Amino acid sequence: MMASASVRDLVGVGIGPANLSLAALAQPLAGLDAVFFEQRRGFEWHPGLLIEGARLQVPFLADLVSLADPTSRWSFLNHLRARERLFPFYFAERPHILRAEYEGYCRWVAERLPSLRFGHQVDAVRWNPRAELFEVDFGQVDAGGGVEALGRVRTRNVVLGVGTEPYVPEPLRPLVGAPEVAVCHAADYLEHRERMLAARHVTVVGAGQSGAEVFLDLLRHRPVGRERLHWVARTEAFAPMEYSKLGLEHFTPDYAGYFHGLEESVRDRLLPSQWRLHKGIDAGTIAAVQEELYRRAVAGGWPDVVLTPGVRVRTAGWLSGSRVELHLEHVEQGVRTCLATDAVVLATGFRERPVGSLLRSLDPYVCRDAAGRPRVDAGYRMVLAREVAATGCAVYVQNGEAHAHGVGAPDLGMTAWRSATILNGVTGGEPYPLPRRTAFTSFGLRERVVPGVPSTRGAAAVALTPLVDGV
Ligand SMILES: Cc1cc2nc3c(=O)[nH]c(=O)nc-3n(C[C@H](O)[C@H](O)[C@H](O)COP(=O)(O)OP(=O)(O)OC[C@H]3O[C@@H](n4cnc5c(N)ncnc54)[C@H](O)[C@@H]3O)c2cc1C
Repeated sequence: MMASASVRDLVGVGIGPANLSLAALAQPLAGLDAVFFEQRRGFEWHPGLLIEGARLQVPFLADLVSLADPTSRWSFLNHLRARERLFPFYFAERPHILRAEYEGYCRWVAERLPSLRFGHQVDAVRWNPRAELFEVDFGQVDAGGGVEALGRVRTRNVVLGVGTEPYVPEPLRPLVGAPEVAVCHAADYLEHRERMLAARHVTVVGAGQSGAEVFLDLLRHRPVGRERLHWVARTEAFAPMEYSKLGLEHFTPDYAGYFHGLEESVRDRLLPSQWRLHKGIDAGTIAAVQEELYRRAVAGGWPDVVLTPGVRVRTAGWLSGSRVELHLEHVEQGVRTCLATDAVVLATGFRERPVGSLLRSLDPYVCRDAAGRPRVDAGYRMVLAREVAATGCAVYVQNGEAHAHGVGAPDLGMTAWRSATILNGVTGGEPYPLPRRTAFTSFGLRERVVPGVPSTRGAAAVALTPLVDGV
């Protein structure tokens, strides 16, 4: 193993939008020695779901930097300037940019930041009590996906930005990994698209944004009158994502601070009840589905599709040959049935990527909540044992802190602000001054003062009982 004697200020694990934002905001900070490792061999953003025409669900200002530093050279607008596309963008008047365009912008940033190392998989993060530093072990990923142990880097701070991974509910797991059946997770849809389009009958399971996008793509590309598509979902409706102006204030630092101050049991009750804020389907996609169905109905009678919400898949298996059998139950009716289909797209969502094995040797130092999850403080630091915390070294978490910071954790609109907060914490200064207030809504009746960030309320609200809260 090749050992490096130098000590970094910051090592980032994973380069998705979260740590790419951090790397972009870290770049101009003279004297900050940061390096970022990504197991993929180049920047990619959910490549299996870059369906033609799919758009971001947030406006372009939720780029990697602008909501913390609109003057940054790494802004989306500066990317457009470099690409000589500012005027077309201005006239297009579409603040919700194409998903493929967002990926292209991120790649443009990634290709220009010298602190990024692609094809590097981080295997372990451990605490060295003698050196009072973290040690990060990494390997190099070859073209075939094999990993060769490569080196170790020592650092004062680690930032985990390992993102999410596809999730398949228990009853559907028997379908995964059987090559004879045409089954894929929506995360890999584009790789399997031709096979899905060619199948006699296709079923899409799940009615989040990715389920709707996959269903729409299949619908648009199968023959009129012979669509042979089923779309089933557990939710009681093909529900729109909440997008009201005040509802969006749940995706602000003010709300994250409020949520962080709640009791753990309240947070755990609240988070699943807020699913419509981020797990529904955006209204434009719902309209496009209805429009395509209507267009087909005009051309040739009712399209051959079945759209049924409120349906749970009880079990799944395959029949002789390559057909799949789904055992369904309509939750409200209590009716059970069996659906035979030739191909299935599992649009069953994503979950935070587990970091248990990565952090195994840190385990004795990690403070956990009642449910066994790492505690994360208001500044996105994992709460570590006093002996580590006293050294000023820290492990930060990006997009793995929904249990502590709420529904905004995976939202691109929070990315730049969270990166700036982390950089303020790592440097112990304020290279990125942050706004004291970010929402018109005053969440809660008592003010919570987040360490390191001045009061978030106007004068009237501050007259309420102030409550200073630690970790
Ligand atoms: C299809 C899709 C569309 C979305 N669209 C929107 C949207 O429009 N608006 C919005 O607000 N949110 C959106 N989201 C939610 C969120 O913004 C994205 O999930 C975003 O990619 C999160 O960024 P991230 O950096 O946290 O994680 P990821 O993008 O998942 O990146 C994590 C990276 O870490 C790498 N990694 C993991 N483990 C290791 C390791 N041990 N060593 C090295 N590298 C490692 C992975 O390879 C990966 O590249 C979307 C999510 C999905 C799935």
